[in-house]
Amino acid sequence: MGIETVATEADVVVVGGGTAGVIAAIQAARAGASTVLVERSSLLGGTMTAGGVAFPGLFDAWGRQIIAGIGWELVREAVALDGGALPDFTVVPARHWQNQVHINPYLYALLAEEACLAAGVRIAYYEFPTAVRAAVAGWRLETAGPGLRRRVDCRQLVDCTGGAAVVGMLNLPRLREEETQPGSLLYKLGGAPAPGRSQLEALYVHGADSSTAATMTEANLAGRRTLLERVRQQAGKARLLHMQPEVAHRESHRIEGETVITHGDYTSGRVFEDAVCYAFYPVDLHTRTGVKPKPLTPGTVPTIPLRALVPRGSRNLLVAGRCVSSDRLANSGLRVQASCMAMGQAAGAAAALAARSRTTPLEVPLGEIRDLLAGHGAIVPGG
Ligand SMILES: Cc1cc2nc3c(=O)[nH]c(=O)nc-3n(C[C@H](O)[C@H](O)[C@H](O)COP(=O)(O)OP(=O)(O)OC[C@H]3O[C@@H](n4cnc5c(N)ncnc54)[C@H](O)[C@@H]3O)c2cc1C
Repeated sequence: MGIETVATEADVVVVGGGTAGVIAAIQAARAGASTVLVERSSLLGGTMTAGGVAFPGLFDAWGRQIIAGIGWELVREAVALDGGALPDFTVVPARHWQNQVHINPYLYALLAEEACLAAGVRIAYYEFPTAVRAAVAGWRLETAGPGLRRRVDCRQLVDCTGGAAVVGMLNLPRLREEETQPGSLLYKLGGAPAPGRSQLEALYVHGADSSTAATMTEANLAGRRTLLERVRQQAGKARLLHMQPEVAHRESHRIEGETVITHGDYTSGRVFEDAVCYAFYPVDLHTRTGVKPKPLTPGTVPTIPLRALVPRGSRNLLVAGRCVSSDRLANSGLRVQASCMAMGQAAGAAAALAARSRTTPLEVPLGEIRDLLAGHGAIVPGG
């Protein structure tokens, strides 16, 4: 049997169906754009589901909700359907993580998929880009998966791969540290969970790098080797009850965008002129010795500008998620899930409007992007 070849057209293609990408695709499709979502794995949610980090934060800051919209809609439904409870956002918690929302990752994956399909998103699981080049109307993207090759002609591309894989394929500038934060493999060895905390434990995988199939293989092998050692140490006392299918990655590449959000911008709560959403989390850099989160000063709520989602010098291309254009310390706070969802919604809105008006995302009047976001439940700075 030969390899099937498929030709597809779309207004918007989102690559990566994780934390940010799901929301970007739903927003683009709900705005009327014909949308394709390319995801290398077999389910949606990325780090939230395959990675097992199922406690999105932070939707609130200093006693009020600052991120809502499509991500919040999915999270709220996942909690309600699972019989869970939402934190009271009017109460400022003693520790930031107390207002993270614990969700059932299996349910989240189901709900995310249902919402994508209901919006008209065409999901392409098991596929990843093999080539991308600029075309007259936008882009020609080639993907491959088992038994299949696809060619997609589209107007706008949104890179939500975590490490800006598509931006890398285009040789646009990306930022990367010499030493990156460790990834983590989440698992459960028999024993009672600590109340109010994730039931899973996490082991650091230093040097974990999501850049290529080879580096991801290496991270998984290292994480599983360490886990097996722990299981052997606990033999007869605790059984291995759960292991996530892959290592979750904290850091790899970030884009160098039209704006780079600095640590100073983040910790001062700079309100960018083209802010499209808020973000909130302590500066949270994990190192070989662990992590000591540095909370923001009371009242500070950082914002994310549209230009931090646009790779420098690009046209018809956006990113959303942990690869947002930012320096390392700013990124350690910006990379969390609620912020990634808010960025995803902003990127999906900008891509849909740009596709509709046959312009680039930065040529779309900002007011139109903000109105579309607000119309879909998002909280927009200054709105
Ligand atoms: C161990 C750990 C603990 C964390 N703790 C918290 C926490 O307590 N609270 C919090 O809010 N955040 C936390 N974070 C941060 C947060 O989970 C991530 O930064 C965020 O989920 C990243 O979202 P993303 O959309 O950028 O990437 P992801 O959610 O990882 O999504 C990327 C998606 O793209 C797909 N993909 C990648 N490459 C390709 C390709 N070439 N082709 C097709 N598909 C591709 C992947 O399969 C994946 O589905 C934690 C992160 C880690 C790793």
